[in-house]
Amino acid sequence: MIFSGLLFVFLAAAPLGVSGLAAGPAACANLTDFLTSSKVDSNELSLQYLGSQKGYWNAVQSSYAPSCVVYPTSSQDVSVALQGIRAAGSRFAIKAGGHNPNTFFSSVDAGVLIDLGSMTSMLYNEDTTLATYEPGSVFGDLYDYYARFNRTVVGARLAGVGTGLALGGGLSFLSPQYGMACDGFRELEVVLPNGDIVTASNTTNIDLFFAMRGGGGNAYGVVTKYTVQSRPIGEFYAGNVIYLFNQTTAVSDAIQNFIQYNEDPKASIIGTYEMLPTPSFGLDLDRAVIMFLVYDGPDAGDAFQNFTNIPHLVNTLGIKTYPDVVNMPIPMSTELSRGDNIFRVGVHRIDDDTFQTALSNWQNWAESNKGSYVLSSIDFQPIPKSLTDASKAQGGNAMQMPDGPWYWVNYLISTVSGLSQTDYDEAQAKFRDMVKNTTNAEGLPLFINDANYDQNPLSTFSTYPKLQGIKKRYDPDNFFTNYTGGWSFD
Ligand SMILES: Cc1cc2nc3c(=O)[nH]c(=O)nc-3n(C[C@H](O)[C@H](O)[C@H](O)COP(=O)(O)OP(=O)(O)OC[C@H]3O[C@@H](n4cnc5c(N)ncnc54)[C@H](O)[C@@H]3O)c2cc1C
Repeated sequence: MIFSGLLFVFLAAAPLGVSGLAAGPAACANLTDFLTSSKVDSNELSLQYLGSQKGYWNAVQSSYAPSCVVYPTSSQDVSVALQGIRAAGSRFAIKAGGHNPNTFFSSVDAGVLIDLGSMTSMLYNEDTTLATYEPGSVFGDLYDYYARFNRTVVGARLAGVGTGLALGGGLSFLSPQYGMACDGFRELEVVLPNGDIVTASNTTNIDLFFAMRGGGGNAYGVVTKYTVQSRPIGEFYAGNVIYLFNQTTAVSDAIQNFIQYNEDPKASIIGTYEMLPTPSFGLDLDRAVIMFLVYDGPDAGDAFQNFTNIPHLVNTLGIKTYPDVVNMPIPMSTELSRGDNIFRVGVHRIDDDTFQTALSNWQNWAESNKGSYVLSSIDFQPIPKSLTDASKAQGGNAMQMPDGPWYWVNYLISTVSGLSQTDYDEAQAKFRDMVKNTTNAEGLPLFINDANYDQNPLSTFSTYPKLQGIKKRYDPDNFFTNYTGGWSFD
């Protein structure tokens, strides 16, 4: 559309055949001409460049050095950037909040990093109750803004996570009521791999809209504007309850009971087990069980009674605002624990009896691999029927989520920094094998927001062939496939 004509200018300007390491600087030189140096930073020592390069939750991604960082302020800038990168044949990455731990998903070495962080406008339409925002804010900023209208958008359970979350589905404390973050999409502005700027909705570019609702970021184009259904927000009853590990069985029973029987969509939990590398001294001092309990409303009734009845060390439950909920001290410590972090994911039904298998596999691995990690955790995240119903009621998403209840398991390993490549690879291989040892449920999708690249999560979606077709249609010459990271469509 508007900007595709620029491609020819770039083709003429860029030395054809530039490849490998030279392509990044060639793209940066072109982009500096077209976007000016105020939007293209090649100075590896500038605070702006360092902010983009260092701002990853997985510190390994910060070890790469982009040839330059581009800071678009409009969809037109993004279009120009993609065309310049394409013309130079450079590698690139699109970065929003920088929380995806997979290598080269939002980081790039010797290529162009498109940092969306300057695109932060947000609006609320009181007549339609729709919220429109650009991709550069983190969810905490969006929650603060929409709280002024007593509204919110469905997004991260932690303030610091970026908007890329919704392209991977997006599991929120509000999801049991309203579905995944992507279910709330009503219209997206997307810059396609060829530089065209298009709208995707239920009536325009319907296939693209389908794929972008949970079928992954950096695959079909760059979202430059989200219009989503906002939701009412008031007081919450929420907090963390922390237990000694000798309560593991009681808490596991309570989590499984909640996954299977809770029917109150205002009640949301994450059950997490944490292990430190320090010795246990036979007293389990190296481990803890932490519950996140969040109720949308000031009175949770007996929704969390099974958890609060178990003897515990700490209970921070109380009345909170939504911005407080996503800044609770325990989740914030996860946010702050930036390091050499890798996620893996599992998916199970309560009746397939894998809850206990997953927990003991993780526990055995964690006990016998001390020395390779500074922190490890296993989190249980319920997907109730109310969530899958809410998703369906809005048209369903790219996962076409089968009826709940079922649950996702998120595994985290934060390896010791400075490991040799061989030791790092060995630690990751053992972690991978431990996760693989718990068989996933047939017919359920792996959650791409918690997945490792090698788990090939899109292939577990019933919609995979359809997504492969959409990918081919919007990235016909494999520009994104070949020049940036992301999920496999093979
Ligand atoms: C501490 C922590 C807490 C988390 N909490 C949650 C949670 O509550 N719920 C949940 O569902 N997930 C959660 N996640 C997982 C998180 O959603 C994913 O890691 C997600 O990919 C992060 O998005 P981002 O914008 O922060 O990261 P980025 O790494 O910047 O982006 C993620 C991916 O999306 C692509 N992308 C980003 N923006 C765009 C765009 N506008 N157009 C096209 N592609 C784009 C990027 O290229 C990248 O591949 C959490 C992760 C961490 C580390």
